Amino acid sequence: MVSLAFALAERLRPWRSQAVRRRGLFTDLIYLVFNGHFLALLLAPLIGVVAPQMERLIVPILGRSYLDGWPMWGQYVLGFFLIDFIQWGIHVLMHRVPDLWRIHRVHHSIQDMDWLGSMRFHWLEIVVYRSLQYLPFLLLGFDWQVLAWHGLFATIMGHFNHANLKADMGPLRYLLNHPGMHIWHHDAAAHGRYGCNFGINLSLWDWLFGTAYLPDDIEQPVKLGFAGLSRFPRGFLAQQAVPFWRRNEVVPRGANSEDGKETPRQKLWVKLGSGLGRFSGE
Ligand SMILES: [Zn+2]
Ligand SMILES: [Zn+2]
Repeated sequence: MVSLAFALAERLRPWRSQAVRRRGLFTDLIYLVFNGHFLALLLAPLIGVVAPQMERLIVPILGRSYLDGWPMWGQYVLGFFLIDFIQWGIHVLMHRVPDLWRIHRVHHSIQDMDWLGSMRFHWLEIVVYRSLQYLPFLLLGFDWQVLAWHGLFATIMGHFNHANLKADMGPLRYLLNHPGMHIWHHDAAAHGRYGCNFGINLSLWDWLFGTAYLPDDIEQPVKLGFAGLSRFPRGFLAQQAVPFWRRNEVVPRGANSEDGKETPRQKLWVKLGSGLGRFSGE
């Protein structure tokens, strides 16, 4: 339903004139079926086994839930901001840590952007995101419903951020992510050494931590992707295998390998990333 609504909206109010039969369409249709429908089913048994074990392990250590007595709306608001901030941090690391970038560059291999592109990601991304975001969630004792509703909102926002739609956000641009910002996250040229606009649902974190980039509405990136994209496999199966093969290959990090203008805060992020890269055995 969500996908159909965005497919229709892109036809009615497109931002860029772009053919429906764009590059990588067939591959992305396979991603739509696999990531959009089967992946949750495949991972459900794993989550069903691991999540209760984590809960059993963590809750006795803490002895209590820190959110006992909190109204549900309070849990939704705090949970939403907390998960989104964690996801922003994970996304930054996906670009900075070479082994994570091997997984994440599958998503950045998109050449023409539309809502369907939001479905192109390696299944290991879900494993990384879920396992890191569940932990603080369990530690504080949130209701699981908060996570389920956040998941639904993130699916809608994922479609929106990648859609070929012109969205006039007004002052909301400083709070919410939108197509005008996310397209620059996929830009092949440098805006800060390892990219910009890492927000998943909220753009707030990028504005706060100096990783936001938003030029005029009319401007568009010349080329999407990353350095070396021409040698990157195009098919679904090969893209699933690519993080595991050619382990010794030097992978340029982030959306590109060239140095751009960096703010002092971006420089700090780059330094942090180099440290973690060393830690991960680079
Ligand atoms: Zn990214
Ligand atoms: Zn994207």
